[in-house]
Amino acid sequence: MMRDCPKCGSSQVEEGFEIDKAHGERVQAAFHKGKPDKRWWGLKTSKADTLPITQYRCARCGYLESYAI
Ligand SMILES: [Zn+2]
Repeated sequence: MMRDCPKCGSSQVEEGFEIDKAHGERVQAAFHKGKPDKRWWGLKTSKADTLPITQYRCARCGYLESYAI
């Protein structure tokens, strides 16, 4: 995980996550393996291929780094 910013070297790094808005609901953004499989009702996804995305933000320069674990 990001401890110091690789861009500016600052140690002011905070953990967070990206928000996804779907049908008025707010959920944590996720990584999905493969290419998007578009259907008439939306994207076909598999829970086994989905990982939540955790992000680290540098408070000095705003650089974001994402991890899907
Ligand atoms: Zn930075």
